[in-house]
Amino acid sequence: MTDNTPRELEHVVIIGSGPAGWTAAVYAARAQLEPLVFEGAGSRTMIPGGQLMFTTEVENYPGFKEGITGPELMMEMRAQAQRFGTRIVTEDIAEVDFQQYPFVLKSSRGKEVRAEAVILATGANAKWIGLPNEERLAQSGGGVSACAVCDGALPAFRNKVLAVVGGGDSAMEDAIYLTKFAKEVVIIHRRDEFRASRIMAERALADEKIRVEWNKVVTEVLGDDVITGLRLQDTVTGAASELSVDGLFVAIGHQPNTAFLGDQVALKPNGYVEMSVPWRTNTSVPGVFACGDVMDDYYKQAISAAGTGCMAALDAERWLAHGGAEAHVSGKEEVAVR
Ligand code: NAP
Repeated sequence: MTDNTPRELEHVVIIGSGPAGWTAAVYAARAQLEPLVFEGAGSRTMIPGGQLMFTTEVENYPGFKEGITGPELMMEMRAQAQRFGTRIVTEDIAEVDFQQYPFVLKSSRGKEVRAEAVILATGANAKWIGLPNEERLAQSGGGVSACAVCDGALPAFRNKVLAVVGGGDSAMEDAIYLTKFAKEVVIIHRRDEFRASRIMAERALADEKIRVEWNKVVTEVLGDDVITGLRLQDTVTGAASELSVDGLFVAIGHQPNTAFLGDQVALKPNGYVEMSVPWRTNTSVPGVFACGDVMDDYYKQAISAAGTGCMAALDAERWLAHGGAEAHVSGKEEVAVR
């Protein structure tokens, strides 16, 4: 059995356990780096495995002709990483010190780990409205989702009335995408104008299947096993109303999981990790790499996360093989990125 106890010095520590983290682990393990993955302790809004753990059927991950459930896909990836010697700790990393070398990481339960290279793969959380029935039905597959591309094509949503909450590009994109399947799409937005780019907003407004409930917020999600409707409140008049819907897609943005990094790594103004070399996974700190949704505010797909996970492991392996760690210790300039 694999010994998951952190060693005195780890070659590579991977933080996060979505498609990016497990793919990085498979590659790093096959390169005999014996990676240690901190898969996360789990909380009310996130569990080990990441956002796919909240997805029902995944139909767009290549290799699964009939589709696969999000949790199953993540369990398979985890097992594949373990098969090659990945060691796993079911804890969060709460704090990092990248000023020191080897890097120092502290877990939520007080474990201290030193690492020659670190791969950040902590992903992002979809923002939710924050209503109790919203969360319950999202977790039970009861017709509430924060990912139209993941769930929109499911049979349960065919020829139905679907609501999209939000007024940004994501909401426009989701609404337009959902018209492929839905009878009608109702965008619910809290103001009287969209934040979305003009082209996206115009496209949505021109679509015959889309209508907008302006100046409205959702105050309650209705339904026991599946969603049946929404209770709305007018943000101008305060008037309450009800809307019958068969699906709710929340598109009010994502929050990258970077709070634990403090100011140790350069972040973009929107909080995502900034990449320091185009088409590589290098961060502002030599020896620290990032992959998946924590650095991707654009594609945000499981398959693109897995792709960058592979890249991060290869970048880390090459960095170590080409003397990155020695350069750190000697204080010499970092080896050139090939
Ligand atoms: P966003 O631009 O931050 O928009 C979030 C929307 O949700 C806003 O309209 C906001 O309302 C609303 N909202 C936020 N919190 C809410 C709450 N608690 N209740 C109700 N409504 C709430 O996020 P995004 O649409 O995900 O876009 C993120 C970035 O990705 C943007 O830069 C966007 O341009 C980009 N993106 C681009 C594309 C594309 O080009 N194809 C597609 C998707 C995303 P307010 O407007 O009132 O603040």
